[in-house]
Amino acid sequence: MSQYIPAVGIVGAGPSGCYLADAINRKLPDGRIDIFDRLPTPFGLVRGGVAPDHQGTKNIARQFERTLGKPGVRFLGNVAIGRDIAYRELKTAYDVLVITIGALQDRRLGIPGEDLDAVYGSGQFVAWYNGIPDGRDLDPRLDGKSIAIIGNGNVALDIARLLGKTPGELATSDLCAHARAAFEAARIEDIWLIGRRGPVEASFTTAELAEFGELSRVAVLVDPSQLPQAMPEGLGDEQRKLAEKNLEILRAYAARGAQSERPVRIHFMFNAAPLAIRGDGRVRELVLTHTRVEHGRPVPGGETFSIAADTVVSAIGYRSTPFPELPFDAARGTVANTQGRVEPGVYAAGWCKRGPQGVVPANRADSLAVADLILADLATCGASGKPGGALIDSLLEERGIRPVGFSGWQKINAAEIAAGQGRPREKLARIEDLLTAAQG
Ligand code: NAP
Repeated sequence: MSQYIPAVGIVGAGPSGCYLADAINRKLPDGRIDIFDRLPTPFGLVRGGVAPDHQGTKNIARQFERTLGKPGVRFLGNVAIGRDIAYRELKTAYDVLVITIGALQDRRLGIPGEDLDAVYGSGQFVAWYNGIPDGRDLDPRLDGKSIAIIGNGNVALDIARLLGKTPGELATSDLCAHARAAFEAARIEDIWLIGRRGPVEASFTTAELAEFGELSRVAVLVDPSQLPQAMPEGLGDEQRKLAEKNLEILRAYAARGAQSERPVRIHFMFNAAPLAIRGDGRVRELVLTHTRVEHGRPVPGGETFSIAADTVVSAIGYRSTPFPELPFDAARGTVANTQGRVEPGVYAAGWCKRGPQGVVPANRADSLAVADLILADLATCGASGKPGGALIDSLLEERGIRPVGFSGWQKINAAEIAAGQGRPREKLARIEDLLTAAQG
C-alpha cells in the first residue's frame, strides 16, 4: 500500500454511498472520505423514497448518521456535480471516486397519452409526497374518483396503500403536510393496481402485500379466477416461495368478497398490459389488453378493454440520470461499468451500477463488494497523493458556495423533529428552507 493516505470522494449520500463510506472507513480508518449530495440532506431513498408510513425501515438513517459523524468522513450537501464542481475537478482531487447517485428518473411507458395532464411517474409522485425539493410543487391531480397505478412492484403498493389510509392511519407517518392536505381533500373511490403479468410474476414482497388487509376503509378486490390453482413450471426456489406466500394473501383477499360498506376499493388487476391513455387534455381512461404469460413474458391476447381513470401513476421502475462526462449505458439506464469499475480510479455502486432492484439493505452487500474492489486496486496501484477535500474546499469558496456539512444536517434534523408535533418529523421540502435551517 502507498505511503499516502487515500482521498476518497463519493457522489451521492444515499444508502449505497453511506454503506460504502462506512466500509472504507472501517478498513482505512486514516483515509479521508468526502460524501457529496446535490441536496442539503443526506440518506437519499431512505428520506425520499421509503414510504412515510414505514418508519421502521427509516431507522437505518441512525447508522448512516454515525458514519457521517466519524472523524475522516465529511458530508458536503447542496453541492451538485456538473453545476458547482466539475467531474474533472473531482478526479484531480480524489484518488478514488465512487458514483452512488441512484436512479432518479422514471422509466417511460412508451404508449400514447403518457404526456396527458394527471399522468405521473412514480418517482415524481413519491418525491412530491416525501418532500424532495424537486417534486414539492408537483401538486398532482387527485380530484377524480378513480386512479390507475401501473406496475406490480412495491412502489405501486406504497402509493396505493398511502392513498387508501385514513388520516388517522397516517398519523404516525412523516407524510409531508402538503401531501396530507391533498390526500384528505381527495375523493378517490377506486384504486386500480395493474400488472402486465400474473400474480405469480408480481414483484411485491409479502409483508407489503399483507398490509392492505389492515386498512380500515379499504375493500381489497381480487378476482379469484385470476389466481392460478397450480404453480407454473420452471420457477426458481425463491420466486416460488414468494409467489406461494403472495397467493395465500391474495386468496384471503378474494375470500373477503365485496365489503361494499367500505368507501375505497383497491382492485388488483393482473394480466393486463397498458396500450394507451386517453383523455381530453387530462386523462379519462386507460386502455388495456389482456395478456397471458409465456416463457415468463407477457403476451397480448388481442382483446382490448378500458377502465375509467382520472389520474394515472406509472410505477414501472427507474433509470439513472447520465452523470456528466461519464459513459452511460442507455439500455440499462445505469452508469456504464464492469462490476463496479467505471474507469481507472472511478467506481459505481448501488442502483446506478446494477439498476433499481432490491430493498435498502440489499445495497449493503453491493457497497461492501465495491469497497473490496477499491481496496484491492489501491493495494496494487497505491494512492497518488491527491489533494482531496482541500482542493474542493478552495474551489467552493472561490465560487461562493457554502456546502451543508454534517452539523448543518443535524440542525435541519432537529428543526424537522421539533416541527413534527407528535409525528416523527415535519420535513422541510424547499431548498431555501433547508438552507436556513442548516444555519440554525
Ligand atoms: P419493480 O419491483 O421492478 O416493479 C416494477 C413493475 O413494473 C413490475 O411489475 C413490472 O412488470 C412493471 N412494468 C415494467 N415495465 C412495464 C410496462 N411497460 N408496462 C406495465 N408494467 C411494467 O420496481 P419498483 O416497484 O419501482 O421498486 C423498485 C425496487 O425498490 C424494488 O426492488 C422494490 O422491491 C424496492 N422497494 C421496496 C419497498 C419495500 O421494501 N417496502 C418499497 C418500495 C420499493 P414486469 O415484472 O412484468 O416487468
